Amino acid sequence: MILEPCPFFINGEWIDSKLPGTPVFNPSIGEVIAECPSGGIADVNAAVEAAAAAFPGWMETPPVERARVLFRFKMLLEENFEDIVRCNTREHGKTLAESRGDVKRGMEVVEFACGVPSLLMGEVLENIARGIDCEAIRQPLGVCVGITPFNFPAMVPLWMYPVALACGNTFVLKPSEKVPLTAIKIVKLLEKAGLPKGVFNIVHGGREVVDGLLTHPKVKAVSFVGSTPIARYVYETGIKHGKRVQCGGGAKNFVLLMPDADVENSARGVIEAAFGCAGERCMAGSTAVVVGAAEKTVLPTLVEATRKIKVGPTDREVQPDMGALITRQHRDRVLELIEAGVKEGAKVAADGRGVKVSEAPNGFYVGATILDQVHNGMTVAREEIFGPVLNVIRMEDLNAAIELANQSRYGNGASIFTRSGKAAREFKHRINCGMVGINIGVPASMAWFPFNGWNDSFFGDLHMQGREGVQFFTQQKVTTSRWFSFGEGDVWHREK
Ligand code: NAD
Repeated sequence: MILEPCPFFINGEWIDSKLPGTPVFNPSIGEVIAECPSGGIADVNAAVEAAAAAFPGWMETPPVERARVLFRFKMLLEENFEDIVRCNTREHGKTLAESRGDVKRGMEVVEFACGVPSLLMGEVLENIARGIDCEAIRQPLGVCVGITPFNFPAMVPLWMYPVALACGNTFVLKPSEKVPLTAIKIVKLLEKAGLPKGVFNIVHGGREVVDGLLTHPKVKAVSFVGSTPIARYVYETGIKHGKRVQCGGGAKNFVLLMPDADVENSARGVIEAAFGCAGERCMAGSTAVVVGAAEKTVLPTLVEATRKIKVGPTDREVQPDMGALITRQHRDRVLELIEAGVKEGAKVAADGRGVKVSEAPNGFYVGATILDQVHNGMTVAREEIFGPVLNVIRMEDLNAAIELANQSRYGNGASIFTRSGKAAREFKHRINCGMVGINIGVPASMAWFPFNGWNDSFFGDLHMQGREGVQFFTQQKVTTSRWFSFGEGDVWHREK
């Protein structure tokens, strides 16, 4: 098979690299489709220098003109939507419908960033003292960096750079080495939209490139999304080197099923939350907390529907319910975690371990799995599995369920399915996480709101998306001014 090119993009040039790298798979069939080159310090330096050189010109470009580039970018994303979707599915393995969601969520951030002239407006207070005015404006930071994970090849990079660019920064993206092709395809459209040379750059690689970016003196800010240990490392290293840093990390999200929950809708909501994108989502509802009598109502429906989930290749017209996992290694780790759960006493209520996909026998598949009778001390309850595995924990009442969920070290999302406003209000108020769903399985914030992880799911002060995104990518300048008033000794006064 001819491998797809995976070029660097530096100072407006697409550069094919001869460097050895890491394989990019089509997980549906388990075949290599590209090789992502592992860049080094020279590539980092070239990209950061290009971005630094482009900064003064881009910063001086009026916000409304920067927004016009983004309007054209948005139009090109629409025109090329299905092409991006197919590329995304091919290198990631998620279904076409899921890829459409991935690209659409990212496009909404572009739409948000198109409003940058309003978003950048500052504050003024006249007569802060007699004859003295004060104003606060927002200015860009300089060279900003994005380091992204494999699970949303389109959306996560788009959380970062449309806002960064709209605010007048220049940018270096290091996409996941597992899914670089969608990022490249999208950036080709950004280039076509009329972005000046050097304003946007791509470097590929792993730790060496990340370290080079985190320590480069000309990098001002770093946006990272990935697993918690790497998020913590990037945060600590970045701030030690004087950068502004925001890092999204891993998660373990709880979905509470109350005894009064609507059976069909809540079972559907949990299935979407647990098995959507084959569970490779930081907002995956990976633990169902079944409260009281919900074990007799919702749980049997949930188990029955899970057993019917069809797994298969997504790189063709006929679509399954769920696709493959990203790599063979990741599939094996998910299977190991299921085994660890069984060894520690969990009961397999829906078993995806031996799934056979005859039309694509080499794809990286695990079927939808439910582990029942899980306890908080088990490995599967502690570790982020990041696969199609739903833990079920039974609790006697809402209070116990909230207390259990609040023991988690993570804090991305949590949901409750109930008909009771009182229970929903209690849950919303007391749950220890940053994104809450009420009768919604995946309460992921959209572009206008912060993507709001807490605890070990986020390191930093300002989240991605929404106004916090604008704050992250700008610094305020406060000017206090006095113009001496007419009076004795004033030159104009004398002339009169
Ligand atoms: P990952 O941490 O392995 O990789 C993320 C990025 O870090 C990649 O670009 C990778 O090249 C780089 N990286 C990997 N190892 C590194 C190292 N030792 N030093 C420096 N850089 C390194 O994450 P992943 O497997 O690609 O993505 C899945 C993880 O991302 C999950 O934990 C998921 O929950 C998390 N995630 C979080 C959010 C959020 O908003 N909180 C969103 C999406 C995904």
